[in-house]
Amino acid sequence: MNQNKPFNEPSFRQSVDLMFNRAVALMDLPPGLEEKIRVCNATYTVRFGVRLRGQIVTLTGYRSVHSEHMEPVKGGIRYAPSVNQDEVEALAALMTYKCALVEAPFGGSKGGLCIDPRDYEEHELELITRRFAYELAKRDLIHPSQNVPAPDMGTGEREMAWIADQYNRMNTTDINGRACVTGKPLNAGGIHGRVEATGRGVQYALREFFRDKRDMEMAGMTGKLDGKKVVVQGLGNVGYHAAKFLSEEDGSKIVGVIERDGAIVNDAGIDVDGLRDWIAGHGGVEGSPFGTFVPDGASVLEHECDILIPAALEGVINLANAARIKAPLIIEAANGPVTAGADQILREKGCVIIPDMYANAGGVTVSYFEWVKNLSHIRFGRMQRRQEEARHQLVVDELERLSDHLGDAWTMTPDFKSKYLRGADELELVRSGLDDTMRIAYQSMREVWHAREDVTDLRTAAYLVSIDKVAQSYRAKGI
Ligand code: NAD
Repeated sequence: MNQNKPFNEPSFRQSVDLMFNRAVALMDLPPGLEEKIRVCNATYTVRFGVRLRGQIVTLTGYRSVHSEHMEPVKGGIRYAPSVNQDEVEALAALMTYKCALVEAPFGGSKGGLCIDPRDYEEHELELITRRFAYELAKRDLIHPSQNVPAPDMGTGEREMAWIADQYNRMNTTDINGRACVTGKPLNAGGIHGRVEATGRGVQYALREFFRDKRDMEMAGMTGKLDGKKVVVQGLGNVGYHAAKFLSEEDGSKIVGVIERDGAIVNDAGIDVDGLRDWIAGHGGVEGSPFGTFVPDGASVLEHECDILIPAALEGVINLANAARIKAPLIIEAANGPVTAGADQILREKGCVIIPDMYANAGGVTVSYFEWVKNLSHIRFGRMQRRQEEARHQLVVDELERLSDHLGDAWTMTPDFKSKYLRGADELELVRSGLDDTMRIAYQSMREVWHAREDVTDLRTAAYLVSIDKVAQSYRAKGI
């Protein structure tokens, strides 16, 4: 993607540091603490061999721990050929700020393995994943109370199940072994709603943005999510769920989807599920019947739309294209899609950016719920659900008894009755907890954004809120 980047821009990690420095300059932290929060504590590099197709292949992986002000530390594991130490450290730093912002009680970490998963068969990926997990687990870099990975680009439920199983084989008496990793399938200790969580969080974030007129005015927008034109880059886990929920539940129109091989544009709206199935069957968007194919996919970032959702890679909006971006609102579903230089250009143009550390925090939020579920060894709602239903039944019975005396005007609609009677299951509880988290975190950024004259953008507001929380943890520890 960075072929579109002729300018000499700072690396991803430097870009995160620049944004951090901009925010911290507005704070009054004790000397030295600022540096302590900014730096990455440690990065472990591992090179390991796996026997594949009759020969030994050496692979390189990383696990970086940015901040241990709270433990365990948390952050996904990425499989991509472009994985490198700089990227993993930038992503680990973002995890620290993200967890603080949404009040998930974790420090920040991230891992990566330098492979293209599409080059391997499933059983080969299992061998590779188990070996990588072994290398990390034996150094407590996978551990329920020390370091808890999750999925990221190129990994999903399947890899998390292999990691959990590998850890449990190595720690047969650890009763909390399942909590060593999140994003697992349900039958391996996962939680309802984790797969959709990051995309769902993007939807909840946008809903909160559109609840406040002042925020819309900052972007020169009016109205609601209904009818808004959206361009999404990356129809993977995050991009697909965000696009699906926004189009199916909020009436937004997906007018562009950018993938590896190009983009599809259609101002009448793209069938998100149809295109996702097409990609699964054909390996790309080209030839699909859902709109016009544009071979230079990145150019569609500049397409006319209301909301741009980069949900693939970092650095895709950079000095080379920032001035041509037309969307008044960008929500960073991916980590680091806007470089520090592009951020400045966009801010000066009046574009509002909902920053990554907040926008994609839905994943870690539901991972937190999964971790708690694993440690408590019980599904959410199992104790309360039927009791809740029984109490609601009492109210309904009483209202029906009264309505016998008061006549037809008091009759309950069957729809209300069935909805009211049903106790919340795990998925509903997870969505409710996620919605609450996304709203509260947004409100904490909004407050700073509108209250302080020296804070002119949501990213700086997000950093101020989260750095303050991390600083408080350090102070409480006596550092
Ligand atoms: P994924 O692997 O499921 O999907 C990535 C998608 O991007 C794929 O469809 C891929 O084909 C596409 N893509 C890859 N290169 C591209 C390119 N050059 N141009 C256009 N599209 C391209 O990954 P994901 O889990 O959806 O993660 C996407 C982003 O979201 C990453 O930045 C990740 O760090 C971030 N994120 C993910 C989660 C999560 O829960 N999965 C949580 C927080 C943040």
